[in-house]
Amino acid sequence: MYRISKQIHNKIIDAKHILLIPHQNPDGDALGSLTAFKQYLHKIDKPHTAFCVTDVPQNFRDLHHVDSISSDQSIWQNPNIDVVIVFDSGDLHYAGIDKYIAKLPKQVYIINIDHHATNENYGHLNMVITSSSSTAETLYNFFKHNDIEIDNKMATSLLAGLVTDTDFYTNGATSLSSLQITSKLISLGGDFALIKDIIFKNKTINVLKLWGIVLSRLKKHQEIDLVYTYLTQEDLDTYGVSESISDGISNFLNNLNDGEVCLLFKELPDNKIKGSFRTTKDNVDVSAIAKELGGGGHKKAAGFTIDGPLKEAARTVFELIKNKNLN
Ligand code: 5GP
Ligand code: MN
Repeated sequence: MYRISKQIHNKIIDAKHILLIPHQNPDGDALGSLTAFKQYLHKIDKPHTAFCVTDVPQNFRDLHHVDSISSDQSIWQNPNIDVVIVFDSGDLHYAGIDKYIAKLPKQVYIINIDHHATNENYGHLNMVITSSSSTAETLYNFFKHNDIEIDNKMATSLLAGLVTDTDFYTNGATSLSSLQITSKLISLGGDFALIKDIIFKNKTINVLKLWGIVLSRLKKHQEIDLVYTYLTQEDLDTYGVSESISDGISNFLNNLNDGEVCLLFKELPDNKIKGSFRTTKDNVDVSAIAKELGGGGHKKAAGFTIDGPLKEAARTVFELIKNKNLN
């Protein structure tokens, strides 16, 4: 990986204009990695733009540079763009930029920085470290390999990635290196308290009421030993809650000591259904099922999006699991 780190660095130094891309509906890892990198580019005066195909969750607006991530498609018309860096996305479709890349008049150089085992290595350079807790950890290694100083803003951003993907150091991604890097980032001036407030202490009464509704619908599919629940657009309207704020529910299901796998179905505005798998069982790999459904992720946390309505989507997923083995 040291060699790839160096190659990426050379490409960045030579680039005219770099486009930074998180995956759509970005989480703390995608945003933390992107903003840490943005701060680095800012410091070396490298022209760049950050673009996200969807809105960025409101709770992250206190993280430096998040407010400068654009959703304006016209940025793709900038003829100087020659390098595109994608953070935390296993494929270009999940990043939401496959269609933009296809339409560009000239080829751009794609750099893929990630940690998902399902990553399709779609870049010209791929720094995909599957043993990393987070893309932020992968990026920390990139900065180290290239002797790039991590300032307090970059440290805070990287902390957002580590905290998000280890679910506050509780899930299977939590490792010795994730903890060592965390302490290093704090010693470099990373603002852990800010990240805690952004990621953990961000729920209104209505959000927790919504969690209550979703949790009250938990059911177990005995035959496949799967615990599931769902969230509808009507629920979001009733409680005036945006979709992204419900993200923590799927992680919270890791608290269950019942069933091999948990699954949260979420109705999207376009009548598609997003599924989020979680498991804490050593012998279960949910990324394999997610991949069969057109998605991806990690062995212990993976997702997909399929056509609705909810009942139909649930039937499709349950049938697939019945026919395959979870482990
Ligand atoms: P979540 O269920 O919280 O959205 O995602 C769990 C993990 O799976 C995350 O690491 C996320 O990046 C990945 N993931 C979720 N949905 C998809 C998808 O549709 N495609 C890909 N490639 N990865 C996904
Ligand atoms: Mn990640």
